[in-house]
Amino acid sequence: MPSGAFLIALVFAFAFSFYQSCKRESPETPQPAPPGEVVTEGRLVVYALDVGQGDGLLVITPERKTVLIDAGTPQASEAITSALARYGVQSLDLVIASHPHADHIGSMKRVIDNFPVRNFLDSGQTHTSATYERMLKAIQDKKVRFLKARSGQTFDLDSGVKIEVLNPSEKLITEIRSGGSVLNANSVVVRLSYGDFAMIFTGDAEFETEADMMKRGVTLRAQVLKVGHHGSRHATSGRFLDTVAPRAAIISCGGDNKYGHPSPQVLDRLREKNIQLYRTDLHGEIIISSDGKSFDIRPTREADLAAVWKGRTATQSE
Ligand SMILES: [Zn+2]
Ligand SMILES: [Zn+2]
Repeated sequence: MPSGAFLIALVFAFAFSFYQSCKRESPETPQPAPPGEVVTEGRLVVYALDVGQGDGLLVITPERKTVLIDAGTPQASEAITSALARYGVQSLDLVIASHPHADHIGSMKRVIDNFPVRNFLDSGQTHTSATYERMLKAIQDKKVRFLKARSGQTFDLDSGVKIEVLNPSEKLITEIRSGGSVLNANSVVVRLSYGDFAMIFTGDAEFETEADMMKRGVTLRAQVLKVGHHGSRHATSGRFLDTVAPRAAIISCGGDNKYGHPSPQVLDRLREKNIQLYRTDLHGEIIISSDGKSFDIRPTREADLAAVWKGRTATQSE
């Protein structure tokens, strides 16, 4: 090659690699979809309910099987029961209590008292709180089938819709780094799948939970991730995000929380990996739906993009 042509080629190669590295350093900020019409007929639909600080997610399958994953705080009971009524839920095929913290089981008694529940899936961890005792009594009074969640269990809901338990494993997590909690770490984690679509629900899983699931090699890949522990800084590692490889993330948290949920570090990791972010504190209820091939996410409220990517600082320990 003549030296002039070689030099030009070298300049081009250098310019191209510089352009590529610039592109890598400033990826386009992922934008959440705006509110809009939601088609639910014949689709799998997940409603991330607006329950304030806590979790409450309703799943309705194409054949109208129903699953409730967590039931917010006691103050969220009206929001949860009215949402169930709004979506025509008359009974629940499966209720999952990810772990016995009040922001996940607070309105369980109200739900069990008002809707026939076929199966109740629990982490198997006990608590001394009155909220937990009330939930257990309601389960006993209504003679609900009580199941202890263990990794490997599968619930076939209807044509192709499946819920697989990924956590806890037979051996519960007993040691946690500072700031975390054992009850959170042993949260029930499930993977909901329908055809090519999958969504992971993590409860209040901690870094230890994520590491344990990755070590056990359970299937974690999913298009949508319900972020663990309301976006807490004790969860959602970069390696976990790479393993799940979600295209969208849902954070369920309250606008007035003092726990620093969601944490700026978690939001930075999501943004760096180009993951669309939806937050119940800003977007209100979030509706995820799929036909088993593609999926659609619609928030019920528009939110300012700068606010969506802004985390909170804790003024109270988690
Ligand atoms: Zn929680
Ligand atoms: Zn918790």
